[in-house]
Amino acid sequence: MEVRVQNVRKEFDRFPALHDVSLDIVSGELIALLGPSGSGKTTLLRLIAGLETPTTGAIFFGDTDASEWSVQRRNIGFVFQHYALFRHMTILENISFGLSVRPRSTRPPAKEIRRRAMELLDLVQLCGLEKRYPNQLSGGQRQRVALARALAIEPSVLLLDEPFGALDAQVRRELRKWLRELHDRTGHTTVFVTHDQEEAIELSDRLCVMSQGRIEQIGKPDRVYDHPSSPFVFGFIGSSSELPVTVENHELWVGGHAIGIPAGDTPPGQARLFFRPHDVDLIEADASLTGVVSATRRVGGTRRVELGIGGSDHKVEIDLPFDHPAGEKTRLAFRPRRWTLFPAA
Ligand code: ATP
Repeated sequence: MEVRVQNVRKEFDRFPALHDVSLDIVSGELIALLGPSGSGKTTLLRLIAGLETPTTGAIFFGDTDASEWSVQRRNIGFVFQHYALFRHMTILENISFGLSVRPRSTRPPAKEIRRRAMELLDLVQLCGLEKRYPNQLSGGQRQRVALARALAIEPSVLLLDEPFGALDAQVRRELRKWLRELHDRTGHTTVFVTHDQEEAIELSDRLCVMSQGRIEQIGKPDRVYDHPSSPFVFGFIGSSSELPVTVENHELWVGGHAIGIPAGDTPPGQARLFFRPHDVDLIEADASLTGVVSATRRVGGTRRVELGIGGSDHKVEIDLPFDHPAGEKTRLAFRPRRWTLFPAA
């Protein structure tokens, strides 16, 4: 089902949790809502679900304005961070629940409900556990049951709110991969809320980055990572380093030295240069910068080195494969087109 969020504003006691948000969710895609705490992700998800109504604006399901529709009419499947399975029901009963409480006129026969629940149990790779109770499963298994339960009603839209948020890092990684494969097989229109950028990049067809109740950028994960539209997105998706520069004579200058990057159409004056810590080379180039190592720390498989940039008070971070002692001087150059310039304001 295609879902269109059109100029939606949501206020809570006059506090604007969302300002004029518009988002088209394509049928069958998996879209991740990513942003820091309080950016409005859950509010947007609840509006799509019908758990909240927009203060202004509208939400369309297909071509129909669904803003006034109930959750049931929208036919939403939900999974939240905290499993919320029914403790007194077996796994099979939990998965069957949505179908078994339907009005008699739309409820499938008991045999059919059981068949579908067993099929879903197989889909989420929990065959053989149907007679267990939720407290006899691991956290990761419970979230897979929650997903099977949400899928049982054949939802128009699947809404996942930090579904792996309560699990440890290793289980999270496994479930992420598993969910992507599951989505490729079932093709449900899915909206996934997370504040974990790695999760959002790995899982989603499109990434919607939110900040302070607004959508900052939306696009394919690669595109958003390689071409962030604002300093906020640059800093939020992946690691970033920033260097204040001056634009003069179509060149960028730091501390009285041109740094070998053309300024393009940037107007003269102050600007902000952003780059990834791994997009810098330690080489003698015509217009390389001098940096002095001030600190080194371990980040995953690399060493992140903090450098004071010669002729200025600024520190940047770059990734290096080997240790450099504090105080060591080094020359560095930016890789072509692996940096972005934003206006200073
Ligand atoms: P988190 O990652 O912490 O869950 P979020 O991005 O999902 O954050 P929301 O829960 O959508 O953010 O909240 C957005 C803003 O709206 C926050 O400032 C929050 O305090 C406010 N807010 C959300 N729900 C309500 C409510 N029912 N009443 C008042 N304010 C609310």
